[in-house]
Amino acid sequence: MFSCNSNAQKKKQAVYKVSKTEAEWKAQLSDMEFYVLREAGTERPFSSDLNTNYKQGTYVCAACNTPLFKSEHKFDSGTGWPSFDREIEGNVAYGSDSKLGYSRDEEHCAVCGGHLGHVFNDGPRNTTGKRHCINGVSLKFIPKDE
Ligand SMILES: [Zn+2]
Repeated sequence: MFSCNSNAQKKKQAVYKVSKTEAEWKAQLSDMEFYVLREAGTERPFSSDLNTNYKQGTYVCAACNTPLFKSEHKFDSGTGWPSFDREIEGNVAYGSDSKLGYSRDEEHCAVCGGHLGHVFNDGPRNTTGKRHCINGVSLKFIPKDE
């Protein structure tokens, strides 16, 4: 009746509203999107067109279209990645990423769990002081209707 290999030993995983298998994500996303969103990879700096996009609009999750960031909160951090001083509250979730040996705040889409980037405390002093350093490949830009 009891085995050593019980469910309780399985890694606890968050359940997301949008949940797909690895194969399903692979079919939906490009290789680069899959690498960043599903494997928490990082795109090359200055590789995303969105880095220098300053049009009015909303940045949504490239995997599930959840609105994540607004153009009015975007700033040029000089890092080569799209940067924002705040997220759309409730749509971005945080984890911990200690891959580099120090503690950083990993952030991901709250709806599908797709990896977005990290948040740092060296953002604009005159607003939030936060720098959300986001992979452009994790985002899709929806221009504001005129
Ligand atoms: Zn998402």
